[in-house]
Amino acid sequence: MPEKITAAQRSFTMRKVKSQDTTPELAVRRLLFRLGFRFRLHRKDLPGTPDIVLPKFGVAIFVHGCFWHQHRGCRRSTMPVSNVEYWHRKFEANMNRDLRNKKCLRKAGWRVLTIWECESTDTGALKSRLKSELR
Ligand SMILES: [Zn+2]
Repeated sequence: MPEKITAAQRSFTMRKVKSQDTTPELAVRRLLFRLGFRFRLHRKDLPGTPDIVLPKFGVAIFVHGCFWHQHRGCRRSTMPVSNVEYWHRKFEANMNRDLRNKKCLRKAGWRVLTIWECESTDTGALKSRLKSELR
């Protein structure tokens, strides 16, 4: 069945999903750096290309946009009102891919942290979480 979506819309979607150096990601990186952690970015050799990797701690971090990765129960993860079917499939594919990547990483011995976009703005909470996760 043909999808009711234009090529422009599709490329926009792909770009958004794959985008790097997003505002939430930068916020997490800045905070980690301030806390004295050193890390690698976008390790393409790892499943799902984790946004941030701390090899010393065996930790891989994904910073997820609440909308694109459909943060459950979050007010930012609304369902668009048009092209519902397309979006539903799109989101489902994203979430399945996230799960698959995390499973692969865990199997390879990585600890996987997901930081949601909405969590990245609460510096205090994020700081204590990172400090307790990374030690
Ligand atoms: Zn959220």
